[in-house]
Amino acid sequence: MQSDFLAALDIGGTKMAVTVANRERILSRVTAPTPKSGTPRALPEQGIAMIGQACAEAGIAAEEIQTVGVASCGPFVHSEGMLCLSAPNICGGRSGASDLPNDWTLIPIEKVLCERFATVAIENDCVAALAGERMFGAVQGEANCAYVTWSTGVGFGLCVDGRLLRGKQGNAGHAGHMLMAEREDAVCGCGNRGDLEGLISGRNIANRLQVPAAELFDAAQAGETRAQAAVLEAASFFGRGLYNLAAILDMKTFVIGGSVWQHHGDWLKPHVEAEIVSRMPALTEGVTIVNAGLGSHVADVGAFSLVLPEDWASSWRLRKPWETIPD
Ligand SMILES: [Zn+2]
Repeated sequence: MQSDFLAALDIGGTKMAVTVANRERILSRVTAPTPKSGTPRALPEQGIAMIGQACAEAGIAAEEIQTVGVASCGPFVHSEGMLCLSAPNICGGRSGASDLPNDWTLIPIEKVLCERFATVAIENDCVAALAGERMFGAVQGEANCAYVTWSTGVGFGLCVDGRLLRGKQGNAGHAGHMLMAEREDAVCGCGNRGDLEGLISGRNIANRLQVPAAELFDAAQAGETRAQAAVLEAASFFGRGLYNLAAILDMKTFVIGGSVWQHHGDWLKPHVEAEIVSRMPALTEGVTIVNAGLGSHVADVGAFSLVLPEDWASSWRLRKPWETIPD
């Protein structure tokens, strides 16, 4: 029997959000800091508690929720056939020089959620974002497309021939860690030097130039020489990353979100496009870059879209219930 209510769980490195909805509208939303101590079950158990809280706010019994879509930061690792979270910014046991107050290596997210809910769908946050953008956003019905976030980090979700790519452990699309250049000063949180995220993420450029990221990008837009050189170099690397994906996967559309692109995409776009259209016309002709259509709601909508029945989707396309979620 199809349930009248669904929950979406968004798991980030610093914050978790739970949203509860029905066929017509968003009923409630609860946020809390991502837990970093206790047992490795602490995070999914907090997710379950937050769903209970969101149900209470919505005035429904917690048992009404039997289906949950989860958008989570990665990477994932399979253990005993179940998907586990192994994110270095949450799992203290994963990174050598961690200052996190835990020694977790794997968080048994699927196992714990499946003890409570009948249906659980978990995807990397950019894969979920792409599912949301394909269902409700800027690339509806597009068969060959990628969601790209350019923000404090850099992430990708990929869709080829109408299928979301997952890979052997659900990690397809970690293209932010593709190696781009021999650059000792471009250090990524993953430990790579000279990968795309190390070169261009807001956090990493800001670290390299010792300027807060927002200030740096604003100065670049205003024409300040040093900031502009750094940001235009980043835009070129970003464009090369997109070219590489277009060449490898025969992509048609890149739908781009994230805070850097939201604030600076308009003036950076020609620099990014130049890196794509200047090469291999047979592969790059017709490749387009579009802005994400769901804005700050992409994580919530993406998580819902993993479990949303088709008749709800047609109702949601008309009503756009996510627009009532506060930013
Ligand atoms: Zn990296």
